[in-house]
Amino acid sequence: MGAKTKHIVIVGGGTAGSVLAARLTEDPRFSITLLEAGPSEDAYDSSVLDPSRAPDAWAGVPPIAMTPMAFGSTAIPMLQGRLLGGTSAVNGLATLRGLPADYNEWAASGLEGWGWDDVVDTFIAAETDFDFGSSPIHGGDGPLPVRRWRRDEMSRAQLAYYDGMIETGNHIAGDINDPTQLPGIGVFPVTIDREGQRVTTSLAYLTPQARARDNLRIRTNSEVASLSMDGGRVSGVTLVSGEDIEADEVVVSAGTFWSPVLLMRSGIGPKDHLSDYGINVQSDLPVGETMSDHLGPAIPYRHEGERGGSAGPAQVLYVGASNGSDVDYHAFPIAPTKTDGPTEFMMALFLLRSSGRGSVRLGETAEAEPIVTAPPLPDDGIERLRDAFDRLAAWEQSEPARQLGVEPVEPHDLTAPDAISAAIERFPLSYGHMTGTCPMGRVLDADCRVRGVQGLRVVDASVMPTIPSGNTYLGCVMIAERVARKMTAET
Ligand SMILES: Cc1cc2nc3c(=O)[nH]c(=O)nc-3n(C[C@H](O)[C@H](O)[C@H](O)COP(=O)(O)OP(=O)(O)OC[C@H]3O[C@@H](n4cnc5c(N)ncnc54)[C@H](O)[C@@H]3O)c2cc1C
Repeated sequence: MGAKTKHIVIVGGGTAGSVLAARLTEDPRFSITLLEAGPSEDAYDSSVLDPSRAPDAWAGVPPIAMTPMAFGSTAIPMLQGRLLGGTSAVNGLATLRGLPADYNEWAASGLEGWGWDDVVDTFIAAETDFDFGSSPIHGGDGPLPVRRWRRDEMSRAQLAYYDGMIETGNHIAGDINDPTQLPGIGVFPVTIDREGQRVTTSLAYLTPQARARDNLRIRTNSEVASLSMDGGRVSGVTLVSGEDIEADEVVVSAGTFWSPVLLMRSGIGPKDHLSDYGINVQSDLPVGETMSDHLGPAIPYRHEGERGGSAGPAQVLYVGASNGSDVDYHAFPIAPTKTDGPTEFMMALFLLRSSGRGSVRLGETAEAEPIVTAPPLPDDGIERLRDAFDRLAAWEQSEPARQLGVEPVEPHDLTAPDAISAAIERFPLSYGHMTGTCPMGRVLDADCRVRGVQGLRVVDASVMPTIPSGNTYLGCVMIAERVARKMTAET
């Protein structure tokens, strides 16, 4: 008789959940049920697959969850993909790793196995880089197809930004995933196929061969309401439909907003907060209390004439350092946001390193929408954005910007002393990099197991203890790959 298989329920078939399900089912000792609240890829239309239509998705075209997030004095709806592939099906496709120092900080905080030297090989193995191929810092045969936008795919505003930043003296970074080339102006690596179509983690990892495995069951339109507890152990989940599913272990991969909500509904979270809802506390942990994000102003610009190109919203960027050496911001056009009448785009200036923390807390009732509060801008944020504003002011005067007739939608002087605070007040934006609501270290151990509870892990963007200095989707892939390996090794 063969050994008993371990039945694992994964809650959320998004960015991390898809990777985890694919990797774990390579091992016949696991039997996986992947529960996704949204629909399958049948719901994918051109607003998902055509990168140039991502801004349509952000306006609510494919199935997405819109959760209000308090941002200073304004509330902005913050989206997450609610379909197989999760937010990798609706994001800006940027495929960045962050910097070695980000992960070395994780390791220095006591999280063994998460330093740069530990994780870099996982980043490399995850990609097939069409531009660089197999090389010391890139991969040639991983599941994710990665390449950089070509000039003929770029919109006219993005080309004007790239060329204008070079004309105004900025260094060209041929590979912005190579830390030695920064600061500099470069082209976003993106997860797309050779034809320029989006490739989500569910498409890349849950291949037809993976889906044909006997030990994988994917259930879409299956929203989990709560975790089932049996003493100090998680014994399964209960769906919103009322169905109970038993498991030897549950992995929650429901994303930065919903993973902490599921934990809190099930008695895992801050005691004082949970007692307000009459929830029996299983483990008193700072769940939801330490949310990070990348924030900054996104200033609207416009030019006459057509958008041009077919590329997605994030095409070129300047990776900047306000002190000249330590990378601490991204500046890039998000383009275009409006194409009828004059073409409109935004210049986003996001700080990357931020110690400020926001939160996710239960809402009016435990079953209601959570209350999400963005982190504050760091105290030195205005000062650190000065370099970005000065370079943007110089770019406005560059020949490529002038030739295209670029002008701010609202006239401004970016060099004025109050320009930065005024732009933040008037045009606040989140990069969509909400992380850290179930952080390793405080809520989870270094293997992503929830402290004080048996049979439960969290694996998604919520586990990041501090936010990397780059976009966060690839970090979720890396985390899922590494936790799958740990789970396989310990079984
Ligand atoms: C507008 C926007 C643009 C972005 N652009 C970029 C970018 O260009 N590059 C980049 O690297 N990052 C980008 N990000 C961030 C990045 O995409 C996310 O950090 C990452 O995809 C999150 O992955 P995840 O696995 O944590 O969650 P998700 O991918 O969101 O997956 C969570 C899944 O869980 C499911 N789920 C939730 N609750 C339940 C439940 N109760 N039961 C069952 N299933 C449930 C959801 O439907 C979803 O499929 C962007 C984010 C936004 C919002």
